[in-house]
Amino acid sequence: MTFGIDDLPVRDELRGKSPYGAPQLDVPVRLNTNENPYPLPEALVERIAERVREAARDLNRYPDRDAVELRTRLAAYLTDTSGHPLDVRNVWAANGSNEVIQQLLQTFGGPGRTAIGFEPSYSMHGLIARGTGTGWISGPRREDFTIDVPAAERAIAEHRPDVVFVTTPNNPTGNAVPAETVLALYEAARAAKPCMVVVDEAYVEFSHGASLLPLLDGRPNLVISRTMSKAFGAAGLRLGYLAAHPAVVDAIQLVRLPYHLSAVTQATALAALEHTDTLLKYVEQLKAERDRLVAELRAVGYEVTESDANFVQFGRFADSHETWRKILDRGVLVRDNGVPGWLRVTAGTPEENDAFLDAVREVKKEQN
Ligand code: PMP
Repeated sequence: MTFGIDDLPVRDELRGKSPYGAPQLDVPVRLNTNENPYPLPEALVERIAERVREAARDLNRYPDRDAVELRTRLAAYLTDTSGHPLDVRNVWAANGSNEVIQQLLQTFGGPGRTAIGFEPSYSMHGLIARGTGTGWISGPRREDFTIDVPAAERAIAEHRPDVVFVTTPNNPTGNAVPAETVLALYEAARAAKPCMVVVDEAYVEFSHGASLLPLLDGRPNLVISRTMSKAFGAAGLRLGYLAAHPAVVDAIQLVRLPYHLSAVTQATALAALEHTDTLLKYVEQLKAERDRLVAELRAVGYEVTESDANFVQFGRFADSHETWRKILDRGVLVRDNGVPGWLRVTAGTPEENDAFLDAVREVKKEQN
């Protein structure tokens, strides 16, 4: 027997658990992790190289610990796109929105505290909760994957969580959560106990509706998290951020590691933000492709959940993993999120989506 993880004194709550693990397989068409399929334009690659070169000269020094220039630019992007005025004090940035969520749970969760999410939803909320010693409560969703407000309110009243997660558009199901639902949950949570409500808007740029940023007005316990991994097409950059009352940003300073955001990351993100319009120009195309996937999957005879994201949940399958494998056998990698009966496909380039649609048409014929 070789020495393994179970022979180490790992924390009890981590024993027997699996790490986050979307397969990174080398197949022709990869539509499994909700990335933007378009590489960065050459002009931006050049600009990144320039800014990183400048930053490299000062790598003997620690980076700006407060990432002031970057947060100022992110605040301007949010203000421009939402019409809701925000400034540097309202924005915090970290290495991906996963790190933002981790910092939020380190600040507002932790041992003896709990967080709730309405599942199926983004699995990392629960995994990061566990990693930070925060108890995780799996709240309910309806059969059609919408949030059942009375049931959610009951769960909040019963468990009195310290942190409430709402993902909109939701991953992996794709549907957006109406603002009234978020408001109802905010009220329910605050009535139960002092608590933070975190709205994860990783995919909001692909939504038919607007961002919930204006809800921040007068709601200091609300946090909206965002990322450059999806619409900005910069998943490799690892840049996530949040918007909230300045007090929330102050509170996070208590847990963030000093100099957590490298000078290279800050320089790269700033270069990307100079090209916001170029990067976001693919969003409209991806939305059109998403809508095409929904229509074509329905035409093939699949059930599809309404999508406001850059991915589509489709089903139903007696054995979703077997169907996942059959699609993979045809060179297309989609995602089995473990939602029984359903799979998820990311909107890729038109050619990738065609390859996917050909594959599922064949699989459907075989399964009929
Ligand atoms: N939130 C949601 C809902 C996501 O789907 C993801 C990525 N899959 C993230 C957050 C994390 O993204 P990142 O850390 O790349 O910003």
